[in-house]
Amino acid sequence: MSSKRDCYEVLGVARNATDQEIKSAYRKLAVKYHPDKNPGDADAEEKFKEAAEAYSILSDADKRARYDRYGYSGMQGGFSGFDPSTFSDFGDILGEFFGFGDIFGGGGGGRRRGGPERGSDLRYDLKISFKEAAFGLKTKVKIPRQDACPDCEGRGTPKGKDPVVCSACGGSGSQRYQQGFFSVSRTCPQCGGAGRIITEPCATCDGRGRVRKEKTLEIRIPAGVDTGSRLRIQGEGEAGVHGGPAGDLYVVIYVEEHPFFQRQGNNIYCQIPVGITQAVLGAEISVPTLQDEEKLKIPEGTQTGTVFRLRGKGIVSLGEHGRGDQFVTVNVVVPTKLSKEQRQLFESLDKISKKEDIRAEEPEERNIFDKVKDIFG
Ligand SMILES: [Zn+2]
Ligand SMILES: [Zn+2]
Repeated sequence: MSSKRDCYEVLGVARNATDQEIKSAYRKLAVKYHPDKNPGDADAEEKFKEAAEAYSILSDADKRARYDRYGYSGMQGGFSGFDPSTFSDFGDILGEFFGFGDIFGGGGGGRRRGGPERGSDLRYDLKISFKEAAFGLKTKVKIPRQDACPDCEGRGTPKGKDPVVCSACGGSGSQRYQQGFFSVSRTCPQCGGAGRIITEPCATCDGRGRVRKEKTLEIRIPAGVDTGSRLRIQGEGEAGVHGGPAGDLYVVIYVEEHPFFQRQGNNIYCQIPVGITQAVLGAEISVPTLQDEEKLKIPEGTQTGTVFRLRGKGIVSLGEHGRGDQFVTVNVVVPTKLSKEQRQLFESLDKISKKEDIRAEEPEERNIFDKVKDIFG
Protein backbone atom coordinates (compact mmCIF):
# COMPACT_ATOMS: atom_id res chain seq x y z
CA MET A 1 0.00 0.00 0.00
CA SER A 2 1.72 3.15 -1.13
CA SER A 3 -1.07 5.63 -0.45
CA LYS A 4 -3.82 5.05 2.09
CA ARG A 5 -7.45 5.88 1.78
CA ASP A 6 -8.90 8.26 4.28
CA CYS A 7 -10.42 6.49 7.31
CA TYR A 8 -13.78 8.18 6.91
CA GLU A 9 -13.85 7.28 3.25
CA VAL A 10 -12.99 3.66 4.03
CA LEU A 11 -15.95 3.35 6.38
CA GLY A 12 -18.15 5.54 4.18
CA VAL A 13 -19.14 7.89 7.01
CA ALA A 14 -19.15 11.68 7.38
CA ARG A 15 -16.32 13.39 9.28
CA ASN A 16 -18.73 14.29 12.05
CA ALA A 17 -20.16 10.75 12.27
CA THR A 18 -21.18 9.56 15.75
CA ASP A 19 -19.52 6.59 17.45
CA GLN A 20 -22.61 4.55 16.75
CA GLU A 21 -22.56 5.39 13.04
CA ILE A 22 -18.90 4.45 12.87
CA LYS A 23 -19.50 1.22 14.67
CA SER A 24 -22.38 0.14 12.47
CA ALA A 25 -20.56 1.16 9.27
CA TYR A 26 -17.63 -0.96 10.36
CA ARG A 27 -19.84 -3.91 11.23
CA LYS A 28 -21.38 -3.90 7.76
CA LEU A 29 -17.96 -3.91 6.08
CA ALA A 30 -16.56 -6.51 8.46
CA VAL A 31 -19.43 -8.84 7.73
CA LYS A 32 -19.19 -8.26 3.98
CA TYR A 33 -15.46 -8.77 3.68
CA HIS A 34 -14.87 -11.31 6.42
CA PRO A 35 -12.30 -13.88 5.22
CA ASP A 36 -14.58 -16.76 6.15
CA LYS A 37 -17.18 -15.41 3.74
CA ASN A 38 -14.64 -14.70 1.00
CA PRO A 39 -12.16 -17.56 1.09
CA GLY A 40 -9.12 -16.92 -1.10
CA ASP A 41 -10.25 -13.46 -2.11
CA ALA A 42 -7.21 -11.24 -1.55
CA ASP A 43 -9.09 -8.08 -2.41
CA ALA A 44 -11.75 -8.78 0.22
CA GLU A 45 -9.07 -9.53 2.78
CA GLU A 46 -7.38 -6.22 2.04
CA LYS A 47 -10.67 -4.35 2.40
CA PHE A 48 -11.36 -6.21 5.62
CA LYS A 49 -8.04 -5.12 7.11
CA GLU A 50 -8.46 -1.60 5.82
CA ALA A 51 -11.87 -1.31 7.51
CA ALA A 52 -10.52 -2.76 10.76
CA GLU A 53 -7.68 -0.28 10.77
CA ALA A 54 -9.97 2.67 10.06
CA TYR A 55 -12.28 1.52 12.81
CA SER A 56 -9.45 1.07 15.29
CA ILE A 57 -8.58 4.73 14.77
CA LEU A 58 -12.03 6.28 14.61
CA SER A 59 -13.46 4.28 17.50
CA ASP A 60 -10.81 5.63 19.86
CA ALA A 61 -11.53 9.25 20.75
CA ASP A 62 -7.88 10.01 21.32
CA LYS A 63 -6.65 8.46 18.09
CA ARG A 64 -9.51 10.02 16.17
CA ALA A 65 -8.60 13.50 17.37
CA ARG A 66 -4.97 12.96 16.39
CA TYR A 67 -6.01 11.55 13.03
CA ASP A 68 -8.28 14.52 12.37
CA ARG A 69 -5.33 16.87 12.94
CA TYR A 70 -2.37 15.02 11.47
CA GLY A 71 -3.82 12.24 9.34
CA TYR A 72 -2.03 8.88 9.31
CA SER A 73 1.25 10.55 10.23
CA GLY A 74 -0.31 11.21 13.62
CA MET A 75 -0.48 7.47 14.19
CA GLN A 76 2.64 6.13 15.86
CA GLY A 77 4.87 4.08 13.66
CA GLY A 78 2.35 3.65 10.93
CA PHE A 79 0.10 0.68 10.62
CA SER A 80 1.80 -1.36 7.99
CA GLY A 81 1.82 -4.42 10.18
CA PHE A 82 -1.64 -4.03 11.53
CA ASP A 83 -3.17 -7.28 12.67
CA PRO A 84 -6.93 -7.13 13.16
CA SER A 85 -6.91 -10.19 15.39
CA THR A 86 -4.89 -8.39 18.06
CA PHE A 87 -7.40 -5.58 18.14
CA SER A 88 -9.28 -5.94 21.39
CA ASP A 89 -12.77 -4.93 20.35
CA PHE A 90 -12.59 -7.07 17.28
CA GLY A 91 -13.77 -10.30 18.83
CA ASP A 92 -16.72 -8.58 20.49
CA ILE A 93 -17.95 -6.80 17.44
CA LEU A 94 -17.75 -9.84 15.20
CA GLY A 95 -18.92 -12.28 17.82
CA GLU A 96 -22.37 -10.86 17.39
CA PHE A 97 -22.32 -11.89 13.76
CA PHE A 98 -20.20 -14.96 13.57
CA GLY A 99 -20.95 -16.52 16.89
CA PHE A 100 -24.57 -17.09 17.68
CA GLY A 101 -25.74 -15.43 14.49
CA ASP A 102 -23.85 -17.53 11.99
CA ILE A 103 -26.00 -20.57 12.18
CA PHE A 104 -25.68 -23.41 9.69
CA GLY A 105 -23.88 -20.88 7.51
CA GLY A 106 -21.87 -23.66 5.96
CA GLY A 107 -18.12 -23.80 5.75
CA GLY A 108 -17.17 -20.89 7.94
CA GLY A 109 -17.36 -20.81 11.66
CA GLY A 110 -14.96 -18.86 13.76
CA ARG A 111 -12.32 -16.32 12.94
CA ARG A 112 -9.41 -17.19 10.76
CA ARG A 113 -6.51 -17.35 13.08
CA GLY A 114 -3.86 -19.82 13.88
CA GLY A 115 -4.31 -20.68 17.52
CA PRO A 116 -6.97 -22.82 19.18
CA GLU A 117 -10.44 -21.50 18.46
CA ARG A 118 -13.69 -22.31 20.10
CA GLY A 119 -16.22 -23.84 17.70
CA SER A 120 -19.27 -21.81 16.71
CA ASP A 121 -22.47 -21.94 18.66
CA LEU A 122 -25.40 -23.39 16.79
CA ARG A 123 -29.08 -22.63 16.96
CA TYR A 124 -31.84 -25.14 16.41
CA ASP A 125 -35.47 -24.05 16.22
CA LEU A 126 -37.81 -26.66 17.64
CA LYS A 127 -41.59 -26.57 17.26
CA ILE A 128 -43.53 -28.42 19.94
CA SER A 129 -47.20 -28.80 20.86
CA PHE A 130 -48.98 -26.99 23.67
CA LYS A 131 -49.12 -30.15 25.79
CA GLU A 132 -45.48 -31.02 25.15
CA ALA A 133 -44.57 -27.58 26.45
CA ALA A 134 -46.71 -28.16 29.52
CA PHE A 135 -45.35 -31.60 30.36
CA GLY A 136 -41.90 -31.63 28.74
CA LEU A 137 -40.65 -34.22 26.30
CA LYS A 138 -37.69 -36.20 25.09
CA THR A 139 -37.03 -35.86 21.40
CA LYS A 140 -34.35 -36.48 18.83
CA VAL A 141 -32.98 -33.68 16.70
CA LYS A 142 -30.61 -33.87 13.76
CA ILE A 143 -27.93 -31.21 13.84
CA PRO A 144 -25.78 -30.62 10.77
CA ARG A 145 -22.46 -29.34 12.07
CA GLN A 146 -18.68 -29.34 11.81
CA ASP A 147 -17.39 -32.22 13.92
CA ALA A 148 -13.88 -33.18 14.84
CA CYS A 149 -12.48 -35.42 12.08
CA PRO A 150 -12.69 -39.03 13.29
CA ASP A 151 -9.53 -40.11 11.45
CA CYS A 152 -7.12 -37.55 12.81
CA GLU A 153 -9.09 -36.61 15.94
CA GLY A 154 -9.20 -33.00 14.84
CA ARG A 155 -5.45 -32.52 14.47
CA GLY A 156 -5.59 -32.29 10.67
CA THR A 157 -2.68 -34.63 10.25
CA PRO A 158 -2.49 -38.44 10.49
CA LYS A 159 -1.16 -40.12 13.62
CA GLY A 160 2.62 -40.13 13.77
CA LYS A 161 2.88 -37.32 11.22
CA ASP A 162 2.84 -34.39 13.58
CA PRO A 163 2.88 -30.87 12.22
CA VAL A 164 6.32 -29.28 12.06
CA VAL A 165 7.27 -26.04 13.76
CA CYS A 166 7.03 -23.11 11.33
CA SER A 167 10.49 -21.98 10.30
CA ALA A 168 9.45 -18.37 9.63
CA CYS A 169 8.22 -17.59 13.14
CA GLY A 170 9.81 -20.34 15.18
CA GLY A 171 6.39 -21.51 16.35
CA SER A 172 5.14 -18.26 17.87
CA GLY A 173 2.69 -17.60 15.04
CA SER A 174 3.60 -13.93 14.78
CA GLN A 175 6.44 -11.84 13.50
CA ARG A 176 7.68 -8.60 14.99
CA TYR A 177 8.97 -5.65 13.03
CA GLN A 178 10.93 -2.73 14.32
CA GLN A 179 9.58 0.56 13.01
CA GLY A 180 11.45 3.48 14.43
CA PHE A 181 10.90 3.27 18.17
CA PHE A 182 7.94 0.98 17.89
CA SER A 183 7.73 -2.69 17.35
CA VAL A 184 4.76 -3.95 15.43
CA SER A 185 3.60 -7.51 15.44
CA ARG A 186 1.73 -9.30 12.72
CA THR A 187 0.48 -12.78 11.99
CA CYS A 188 3.09 -15.01 10.46
CA PRO A 189 2.25 -15.28 6.73
CA GLN A 190 3.81 -18.72 6.36
CA CYS A 191 1.78 -20.59 8.97
CA GLY A 192 -1.18 -18.19 9.17
CA GLY A 193 -0.55 -17.77 12.90
CA ALA A 194 -0.74 -21.46 13.80
CA GLY A 195 2.98 -21.70 14.59
CA ARG A 196 3.01 -25.16 13.04
CA ILE A 197 2.67 -26.39 9.51
CA ILE A 198 0.90 -29.52 8.40
CA THR A 199 3.08 -31.16 5.78
CA GLU A 200 0.94 -34.24 5.25
CA PRO A 201 -2.70 -33.30 5.67
CA CYS A 202 -5.24 -35.89 6.76
CA ALA A 203 -6.98 -37.23 3.66
CA THR A 204 -10.42 -37.37 5.29
CA CYS A 205 -10.63 -33.73 6.33
CA ASP A 206 -8.02 -32.25 4.01
CA GLY A 207 -6.04 -31.02 6.99
CA ARG A 208 -8.84 -28.90 8.38
CA GLY A 209 -9.40 -31.20 11.33
CA ARG A 210 -13.16 -30.98 10.97
CA VAL A 211 -15.73 -32.68 8.80
CA ARG A 212 -19.32 -31.83 8.09
CA LYS A 213 -21.61 -34.31 9.79
CA GLU A 214 -25.18 -34.67 10.81
CA LYS A 215 -25.41 -35.62 14.42
CA THR A 216 -28.55 -37.01 16.03
CA LEU A 217 -28.95 -35.80 19.58
CA GLU A 218 -31.51 -36.85 22.11
CA ILE A 219 -32.63 -33.81 24.04
CA ARG A 220 -34.93 -33.44 27.00
CA ILE A 221 -37.20 -30.42 27.00
CA PRO A 222 -38.30 -29.63 30.56
CA ALA A 223 -41.95 -29.05 31.44
CA GLY A 224 -43.00 -25.41 31.46
CA VAL A 225 -41.09 -24.08 28.46
CA ASP A 226 -42.78 -21.43 26.34
CA THR A 227 -42.23 -19.85 22.96
CA GLY A 228 -38.84 -18.17 23.01
CA SER A 229 -37.39 -20.41 25.74
CA ARG A 230 -33.77 -21.13 24.92
CA LEU A 231 -32.00 -24.25 26.10
CA ARG A 232 -28.24 -24.32 26.05
CA ILE A 233 -26.62 -27.66 25.49
CA GLN A 234 -22.99 -27.27 26.31
CA GLY A 235 -20.39 -28.57 23.90
CA GLU A 236 -22.87 -29.69 21.23
CA GLY A 237 -22.13 -26.84 18.83
CA GLU A 238 -19.41 -27.04 16.21
CA ALA A 239 -16.07 -28.62 16.99
CA GLY A 240 -13.24 -26.25 17.87
CA VAL A 241 -10.23 -25.69 15.66
CA HIS A 242 -6.66 -26.61 16.59
CA GLY A 243 -7.68 -28.10 19.89
CA GLY A 244 -10.14 -25.35 20.86
CA PRO A 245 -13.31 -26.29 22.75
CA ALA A 246 -16.57 -27.02 20.96
CA GLY A 247 -19.28 -24.38 20.82
CA ASP A 248 -22.70 -24.76 22.41
CA LEU A 249 -26.02 -25.70 20.90
CA TYR A 250 -29.01 -23.48 21.59
CA VAL A 251 -32.43 -25.01 21.15
CA VAL A 252 -35.04 -22.30 20.69
CA ILE A 253 -38.61 -23.36 21.44
CA TYR A 254 -41.75 -22.47 19.51
CA VAL A 255 -45.01 -23.63 21.05
CA GLU A 256 -48.00 -24.29 18.79
CA GLU A 257 -51.35 -22.82 19.73
CA HIS A 258 -54.03 -24.98 21.31
CA PRO A 259 -57.59 -24.97 20.01
CA PHE A 260 -59.11 -24.82 23.50
CA PHE A 261 -56.53 -23.43 25.92
CA GLN A 262 -54.71 -20.14 25.89
CA ARG A 263 -51.63 -19.61 27.99
CA GLN A 264 -50.27 -16.65 29.85
CA GLY A 265 -47.16 -17.39 31.85
CA ASN A 266 -48.02 -20.50 33.83
CA ASN A 267 -51.77 -19.90 33.87
CA ILE A 268 -54.10 -21.29 31.25
CA TYR A 269 -57.45 -19.89 30.16
CA CYS A 270 -60.50 -21.46 28.57
CA GLN A 271 -64.15 -20.73 27.89
CA ILE A 272 -67.01 -23.10 28.73
CA PRO A 273 -70.56 -22.73 27.42
CA VAL A 274 -73.37 -23.44 29.95
CA GLY A 275 -77.12 -23.66 29.39
CA ILE A 276 -79.45 -20.97 30.63
CA THR A 277 -81.09 -23.27 33.17
CA GLN A 278 -77.68 -24.40 34.49
CA ALA A 279 -76.73 -20.76 34.97
CA VAL A 280 -80.01 -19.94 36.67
CA LEU A 281 -80.33 -23.01 38.87
CA GLY A 282 -76.63 -23.73 39.40
CA ALA A 283 -75.01 -26.96 38.23
CA GLU A 284 -71.95 -29.15 38.28
CA ILE A 285 -70.20 -29.04 34.93
CA SER A 286 -67.09 -30.81 33.71
CA VAL A 287 -64.19 -28.78 32.43
CA PRO A 288 -61.36 -30.21 30.32
CA THR A 289 -57.96 -29.70 31.96
CA LEU A 290 -54.45 -30.38 30.68
CA GLN A 291 -54.44 -33.72 32.51
CA ASP A 292 -58.01 -34.94 32.00
CA GLU A 293 -61.09 -33.18 33.28
CA GLU A 294 -62.33 -31.57 36.45
CA LYS A 295 -65.78 -31.09 38.02
CA LEU A 296 -66.69 -27.45 38.55
CA LYS A 297 -69.69 -26.32 40.65
CA ILE A 298 -71.28 -23.18 39.32
CA PRO A 299 -73.64 -21.53 41.79
CA GLU A 300 -77.26 -20.54 41.28
CA GLY A 301 -77.57 -17.27 39.36
CA THR A 302 -74.19 -17.41 37.59
CA GLN A 303 -73.82 -14.54 35.12
CA THR A 304 -72.25 -14.93 31.70
CA GLY A 305 -68.57 -13.95 31.73
CA THR A 306 -68.03 -15.12 35.32
CA VAL A 307 -64.52 -16.51 35.78
CA PHE A 308 -63.78 -19.53 37.97
CA ARG A 309 -60.34 -20.63 39.05
CA LEU A 310 -59.13 -24.21 39.21
CA ARG A 311 -56.07 -24.03 41.44
CA GLY A 312 -52.94 -25.84 40.37
CA LYS A 313 -54.37 -26.91 37.04
CA GLY A 314 -52.06 -24.67 35.02
CA ILE A 315 -48.54 -25.29 33.80
CA VAL A 316 -45.57 -26.15 36.03
CA SER A 317 -43.15 -23.32 36.66
CA LEU A 318 -39.99 -23.95 34.67
CA GLY A 319 -37.23 -25.05 36.99
CA GLU A 320 -39.32 -24.55 40.13
CA HIS A 321 -41.97 -26.26 42.15
CA GLY A 322 -45.57 -25.22 41.85
CA ARG A 323 -48.00 -24.79 39.05
CA GLY A 324 -50.15 -22.08 37.58
CA ASP A 325 -53.95 -22.12 37.67
CA GLN A 326 -56.66 -22.71 35.12
CA PHE A 327 -59.20 -19.93 34.66
CA VAL A 328 -62.58 -20.90 33.30
CA THR A 329 -64.84 -18.25 31.82
CA VAL A 330 -68.50 -19.28 31.75
CA ASN A 331 -70.52 -18.28 28.73
CA VAL A 332 -74.28 -18.56 29.20
CA VAL A 333 -75.80 -19.76 25.96
CA VAL A 334 -79.30 -18.52 25.18
CA PRO A 335 -81.21 -21.16 23.17
CA THR A 336 -82.08 -20.12 19.63
CA LYS A 337 -84.69 -22.80 18.95
CA LEU A 338 -87.30 -23.86 21.46
CA SER A 339 -89.58 -26.86 21.42
CA LYS A 340 -93.28 -26.21 21.99
CA GLU A 341 -93.04 -27.34 25.60
CA GLN A 342 -89.97 -25.21 26.29
CA ARG A 343 -91.72 -22.19 24.74
CA GLN A 344 -94.75 -22.70 27.03
CA LEU A 345 -92.52 -23.01 30.05
CA PHE A 346 -90.60 -19.82 29.18
CA GLU A 347 -93.89 -18.00 28.56
CA SER A 348 -95.32 -18.97 31.93
CA LEU A 349 -91.97 -18.08 33.51
CA ASP A 350 -92.26 -14.71 31.83
CA LYS A 351 -95.75 -14.12 33.30
CA ILE A 352 -94.65 -15.09 36.81
CA SER A 353 -91.53 -12.94 36.54
CA LYS A 354 -93.53 -9.87 35.53
CA LYS A 355 -95.86 -10.21 38.53
CA GLU A 356 -92.96 -10.86 40.88
CA ASP A 357 -90.90 -8.04 39.48
CA ILE A 358 -93.71 -5.55 40.10
CA ARG A 359 -94.22 -6.78 43.62
CA ALA A 360 -90.53 -6.66 44.29
CA GLU A 361 -90.17 -3.21 42.91
CA GLU A 362 -93.13 -1.58 44.58
CA PRO A 363 -91.68 -1.10 48.06
CA GLU A 364 -88.43 0.20 46.57
CA GLU A 365 -90.33 2.69 44.45
CA ARG A 366 -92.43 3.85 47.36
CA ASN A 367 -89.30 4.36 49.36
CA ILE A 368 -87.81 6.57 46.69
CA PHE A 369 -90.98 8.69 46.48
CA ASP A 370 -90.98 8.97 50.24
CA LYS A 371 -87.39 10.14 50.23
CA VAL A 372 -88.08 12.69 47.49
CA LYS A 373 -91.03 13.98 49.49
CA ASP A 374 -88.88 14.23 52.57
CA ILE A 375 -86.25 16.27 50.75
CA PHE A 376 -88.60 18.70 48.98
CA GLY A 377 -91.07 18.70 51.71
ZN1 LIG B 1 -8.75 -35.52 9.58
ZN1 LIG C 1 4.90 -19.12 11.27
